[in-house]
Amino acid sequence: MSHVILDKCLGEVYASCVDVCPVECIHPVDYKGEKFMIIDPDVCIDCGVCLPECPIGAIVGSVDESPDWAKINHELTPASKDYEAKNGKAPPRPPNDPPHKPTNKLVK
Ligand code: SF4
Ligand code: SF4
Repeated sequence: MSHVILDKCLGEVYASCVDVCPVECIHPVDYKGEKFMIIDPDVCIDCGVCLPECPIGAIVGSVDESPDWAKINHELTPASKDYEAKNGKAPPRPPNDPPHKPTNKLVK
């Protein structure tokens, strides 16, 4: 079993979850052209530390809560390690207030 990151995380860049994981099993990846984070299910120790760190509730505490996204986390794990090797870890950032979703538009 492991914790799982859901589709709510798609397009987000805040990686406060990455910063707290004691076993460094949360990795950035591109998923269908959007930024995403996945949890490597083989390394996650189910400590639960990341859960309260996600400002939008994109992490669930068990595979049973989202079998579909658990499968996607698992399938994307090799790609995420390649992505991280090329691009580095996602930088931890505090959530904006609002909007949470980053925008490419310049605010004037
Ligand atoms: S539950 Fe613990 S080990 Fe698993 S991803 Fe979250 S912080 Fe890392
Ligand atoms: S803190 Fe939440 S939204 Fe941010 S990268 Fe982690 S799972 Fe995704």
